Amino acid sequence: MLFGEVAKAFDQIEQKSGRLEMTDLLARLFEKTTPEEAERVSYIIQGELRPPYEGVDLGMGEKFVLEAIHQASGYPYSQVEKDFEKEGDLGIVAEKLLSNKRQQSLFTSPLSVVSVYNSMFKISRAAGAGSQDMKIKRLVELYNNASPLEARYITRFALGQLRLGVGDPTILDALSVSHVGDKSLRESIERAYNLCSDIGYVARAFKEDPKKIADFKIEVFKPIMPALAERLRTSEEIIAKLGKCAVEYKYDGFRIAVHKRDNRVEIYSRRLEKMTHMFPDVVKAVESLPPKEVIFEGEALAYNEEEKRFYSFQETMHRRRKYGLEEASEKYPLYVFAFDIHYLEGEDCTQLPYAERRKKLESFLPQENIELSKMRLVSIPEEVSSLFQAALRMRLEGIMAKDLNAPYTAGKRKFAWIKLKKSYGKEMDTVDAVVVGYYRGKGSRTKFGFGGLLVAVYNEDTARFETIAKVGSGFTEEEMEKFQKMLEKDKMKHAPLNLDYVMEPDFWVQPKYVVEIAYDNITRSPTHTCGREEGKGFALRFPRMVRIRDDRAPFDATTTKEVEEMHKFS
Ligand code: AMP
Repeated sequence: MLFGEVAKAFDQIEQKSGRLEMTDLLARLFEKTTPEEAERVSYIIQGELRPPYEGVDLGMGEKFVLEAIHQASGYPYSQVEKDFEKEGDLGIVAEKLLSNKRQQSLFTSPLSVVSVYNSMFKISRAAGAGSQDMKIKRLVELYNNASPLEARYITRFALGQLRLGVGDPTILDALSVSHVGDKSLRESIERAYNLCSDIGYVARAFKEDPKKIADFKIEVFKPIMPALAERLRTSEEIIAKLGKCAVEYKYDGFRIAVHKRDNRVEIYSRRLEKMTHMFPDVVKAVESLPPKEVIFEGEALAYNEEEKRFYSFQETMHRRRKYGLEEASEKYPLYVFAFDIHYLEGEDCTQLPYAERRKKLESFLPQENIELSKMRLVSIPEEVSSLFQAALRMRLEGIMAKDLNAPYTAGKRKFAWIKLKKSYGKEMDTVDAVVVGYYRGKGSRTKFGFGGLLVAVYNEDTARFETIAKVGSGFTEEEMEKFQKMLEKDKMKHAPLNLDYVMEPDFWVQPKYVVEIAYDNITRSPTHTCGREEGKGFALRFPRMVRIRDDRAPFDATTTKEVEEMHKFS
């Protein structure tokens, strides 16, 4: 398939705002692709080259792209920069300048989807001396063969931002529609996606044979999308919802998925990144576990023997950074509290009810530093409350109530798991929001060069960020200095392409950092874009900074859908 055809479809999709129309256009494109092309198109839409756990970074950086546009178009660099300033979107700049090219290339050959993808892959792999020039050269080559419209999407792909308003749910719907004309296969395609976290792999397998998707099996070393918890505010609500259920301590550590086959062990974060190197002590403990093949999930955190208390996630990470991995592993060994199992000796456990999964975990744990999460069966609110109080006395975050009959709900937020945290209740609730901009300090904050943050949540349907608060309080002086230093490096002249906004900060930044923000309640306001209807979006009232969440990726931030739910509470 020619890349031109893909670019044309992207252009049409970009002009639509309704999910249905976008889905249909994308479905029509998938109808025409081979399995290999479907794989590439899916990654391209995500602005990625490979699934997140492979850690292949595409993002080329604005400077490289500016330089390549300058070289390919023959316009002076300063002009490209000036146009960028005006347009705020390098894709549009490339399209415009290349359509009035000053220097025509002698030979052009049409680009195919696969060749564009492959060139980008080579660009991402280039390393060492001369690699920067090589990257620019390859991008220039692509531009030389591209039509102006193709140049728009090549540019955005290079920057890792397609800006189509198409999120994963739309890709999954479109695959189903492309094959049967409706969304009836969506659920099984989504299940497969949640079990391997690799959209390209799923698209390809589906195009090869839809049956492969219907009996999709999980595999060791392909991480599963983590199940997510709903929230309720009281023990009574939990029992009313679940009846007899399991209650576990909620550990405030680092969520990890442990994969083991024979002597190989890999550890993945909640963001599905491979983190094995960060946990030598856990790897060692896992190596000696009895199962030959297993995938289980738990929370890792350090324990202080002297004080008889757990360290929080932040304290744990701080110590690991300060003392280095080896020393920290000895001084502050990590404990893993296993709370779920996905796979054991060839058997996919994700469809088993919680009670049976727990039994499987108990069949080989605890061992050394790999503990089981503390769990009790409860039937009345008083039992829930007393466990909640016990968890707080241990300086833990709260509890997790679990539906005894529910399967593992990979990638989904369901009432199969319900969290009750100490910060809940009437006085305070929190969201995990993404920093998209910041303000210059005024008055006493002038010296820090930092006065607050503009933060956003993630809309899964559109794959876009939507602002929800301007946060000016809750920062310590240290934090203000830290934010200033950190954000200064990432500041941009323009709003991120995948952000919907009304309010403008003094400086924009690439959506990258996740922060936990407390608030009093959620209102509607014309200045924010989260879940906007009739010109008003959801906004946090009295937002205050709680902490930086290093363990979260921007796409793990609180979602617009969750905010809608939380709005009902507030
Ligand atoms: P939250 O981050 O507040 O949405 O709460 C969900 C997180 O709690 C999960 O992603 C886990 O990292 C963590 N967690 C801690 N203890 C447990 C547990 N016993 N069961 C499930 N998740 C847990």
